[in-house]
Amino acid sequence: MMDFGLFALLLLAIAIGFFLGWRYRSKRADNEGRHSTQSYFRGLNYLLNEQADGAMDAFIDSLEVNSDTLDTHLALGNLLRRRGEIAKATKIHQNLLARPSLTTPQLHEAQLELARDFIKAGLLDRAEGLLQELVDAGSQYKSEALEHLVEIYQNEREWEKAIQAANQLSNRRFGKTAVGRGRARAHFCCELAEQALDKNDVVTARRYLQQALSYDKHSVRASLLWGSMEYQLGNYREALKLLQKVPAQDPDMIIESLDLVCDCYTKLGDKRGMQRYLEELLAQYPSSTLVIRMAEQIRWSKDDFAAADFLAQQLRERPTIKALSRLVELHLMHSEGRARENLQLLKQLLDQVLEQKPGYFCEQCGFTGNQLHWLCPGCKSWGTVKVITGVEGE
Ligand SMILES: [Zn+2]
Repeated sequence: MMDFGLFALLLLAIAIGFFLGWRYRSKRADNEGRHSTQSYFRGLNYLLNEQADGAMDAFIDSLEVNSDTLDTHLALGNLLRRRGEIAKATKIHQNLLARPSLTTPQLHEAQLELARDFIKAGLLDRAEGLLQELVDAGSQYKSEALEHLVEIYQNEREWEKAIQAANQLSNRRFGKTAVGRGRARAHFCCELAEQALDKNDVVTARRYLQQALSYDKHSVRASLLWGSMEYQLGNYREALKLLQKVPAQDPDMIIESLDLVCDCYTKLGDKRGMQRYLEELLAQYPSSTLVIRMAEQIRWSKDDFAAADFLAQQLRERPTIKALSRLVELHLMHSEGRARENLQLLKQLLDQVLEQKPGYFCEQCGFTGNQLHWLCPGCKSWGTVKVITGVEGE
């Protein structure tokens, strides 16, 4: 069944077509006019009988393509694509491209829309060809074409090509802002660095990571990846230097670097350095993970009670469920009888709450999950997924 919206639009399109065709036809020979009129009525007849395919063919046959009717054709094609009727949208756009009477900008517009049909249909190779032609021709739709090319290369994981296409875009167009543009290109470089690391090509990986940071000096991903690579290579001081850039790059992502930072200090045998660094972080960027990690240090250097005191003091200043759960856990180890049963119940409840809470969210589209995604699965934006803060998070 056709829905009312499409029905109304088709009817309107055919009515406009009828009017324009009638105006044009009045200047033409009678026999040609009779043919057009028959097509319009055939189209209407199909529509009334809800035979959409027949209506479409009749519409394409009857509504002449010229500057006056171009917008009607494009609007209908785009509506059909949005509804998922790609074959019909493609037919309309291909029909436009076959008309030499249109101007070059008009043909380019139809070509861009046809490329969008192919993208929607998953025919990325065909879309890429059409878009590249628009770029090469210096079309007025070059920026739109390049944006789609970046999307295509991103989907096909052709990162070098994605960088090249993004480089050609003006700051204004890509990712809305220059920041977005730099951020996406930095992620493309990180993807290439990961590919190089898979082949143990450290030199190439370093080159891409350097490039990533030149595109976006706030690229946490580049710092984490590079830091982790240097750690694996045994270059602990270098790794530490890279990982300690993270707080200035994005304080919300500090906890992603904490494990590796502590591992570096441990390898270097610098426990006091680690203590100092964690204290500095806590003063500026408190988080439950940081508090729990520091409580753990206190536990090993002193005892469980000192660690519990520290947690309780931190909870008074900044309550979080995670830190509270750890505090209850510490008390459980030293309690008996009824008190122990009650604490166990409380711990179970807290853990249940934590299990239901996602750890990450996308600040652009609100997507939530328990895994850090560099490319948001919801809105396909780079670097918008962040750690959740507050009582129920960090
Ligand atoms: Zn998102």
